This record gives sequence, C-alpha cells and structure tokens, in this order.
Amino acid sequence: MWASIKTEAIILSVAPWREADRRYSALTPGYGKLEFLGRGAAKPLAKLASHLEPCAILDLEIICGARSITVIGVERRHAFPHLATSVDHRLLVLTSTGLLDKIIREEAADAILYAELTTWLHFLEAQETLHPTRSTFLLSGFLLRLMRQLGYNVALDHCVGCEGEIVPLSFRWHGGRGGLVCSSCIAKNPGEWFLATPLRQEVVQLLRLARDSSYDGLFRYPLKGADVAALAACVHDTVLYHVPGHPTQPFWTGILPLQTVSAIV
Ligand SMILES: [Zn+2]
Repeated sequence: MWASIKTEAIILSVAPWREADRRYSALTPGYGKLEFLGRGAAKPLAKLASHLEPCAILDLEIICGARSITVIGVERRHAFPHLATSVDHRLLVLTSTGLLDKIIREEAADAILYAELTTWLHFLEAQETLHPTRSTFLLSGFLLRLMRQLGYNVALDHCVGCEGEIVPLSFRWHGGRGGLVCSSCIAKNPGEWFLATPLRQEVVQLLRLARDSSYDGLFRYPLKGADVAALAACVHDTVLYHVPGHPTQPFWTGILPLQTVSAIV
C-alpha cells in the first residue's frame, strides 16, 4: 500500500461524513477507483471542497494514514465550465459519475475506463443543448461501453442460452440474463425462457449503435422516443444483471420527463 500519492483524478461522488468531514470517491488512470476523506478539522475543507467536484479533471494529493485515507491537496487541471453551469449537462454528468461509482469496484486500475470517462466529459462539454430523449440515448451508450470495458458486454450477437449466432427476427430479449435468446432455445425449453419478451429489430440495431458508434455519431442519429424508451429498459436490465442491486432505480430517473418514464416502466 502506498503512503501518499499525487494523481490525476475525476470525482465520482461526494457525501457528508461524520460531522465536519466529507467522503469522496474518484476515478484515476493509474490507481482505479479511490475512496478517501476530506477532513474538516485537520485543514480547512472549504478550501479544498470547492475544487472537489465531478465536473473537472483534478490533480489530487492523498495520504494513507493508519486510520483513513485523506485528501490533502487539490488543483484543477481542466475545467468544464459548461458542465458546471448548465443544469441539463450537470444532471447528466452527476448521473453518469454516480452510476460509475456504483458499478466500479475499488483498486482495479483501468486506464481505458478513465479515458472513456474523460472522452464522455469532453463530448458533453461541447454540446450546446441536450434534449432529455437524446440525453437518455447518450447515457445508454456511455453505460453500454462502460459495461463492455468491465467485461459485461450486452449479448446482442450471440444467444444467452446456446451461444449460437442471433439471426434477424428470430429472437427475444431476456432481461434477467442481459441479452438476446434465440427462437430455437425458446422452442426447446419454453419453461426456462418464459420471461423473454419480444424486442423490435430497430431497437437491437439502436443498442448496437449506442454501444459502438462515436458519441458524435450518437448525437446526430435521428431518434424515436419509443425506441429510446425500449433501449433504456434493455440497458437497465443489462446493468442490473451484471451489477446486482445497482442501480437501485432506473438510470434515466431525473433525466427524462415524468410522462416518458411512466411510458417505459
Ligand atoms: Zn439459443
């Protein structure tokens, strides 16, 4: 275990801790996810805390003491002013960093994952406006590529039952297994697959696109609300399948207007 480190980092979550302290979680390129405290008593936390926010790339200095890991220094390496000030943008960033925090375990260093997050922040910063449907689609894409990087790829090309190739129009979606099941598996053993539901071919294509296209491609692609709603439900299934218990509520909560959410669930 290290005694002290200086590292680039992006804050994933902030929570109050005891009376005057705060508990932070941050993603770093070389140390994976780190959890540490900001001490209110030892050093004026307010001075550090104004920088310890999700919408920036930071340089952190952290010490590992006998009883706790504590941040002692922070500098802003790169600010994202648009993300920090636009409500729609900020909501999307906080939702995605909060999900990352729940999905990623500590100590697994992953430079690609870190690069994925910085690409995502730079992309969002460059967007003038974000419509809720578009935001949900973009966040779905971010989650799908994040899950794939963690080894939890959504099963779109091979059947979750027999691993055979999925043929167009001959499949159903099985949320409990995070992917598509082929028609012959269902025909052979209907009892095992009775929870599988029909999924339109357009939604499967949209899932592939969300996972594989560049963010710029996702931003330009024309969207239908119903397709994005079906896609979001599949992404939620996939996250739940691989990270049981998390997230506790659908990831689009807070982003989509209420009437759209009730159409999905
Ligand atoms: Zn099969």
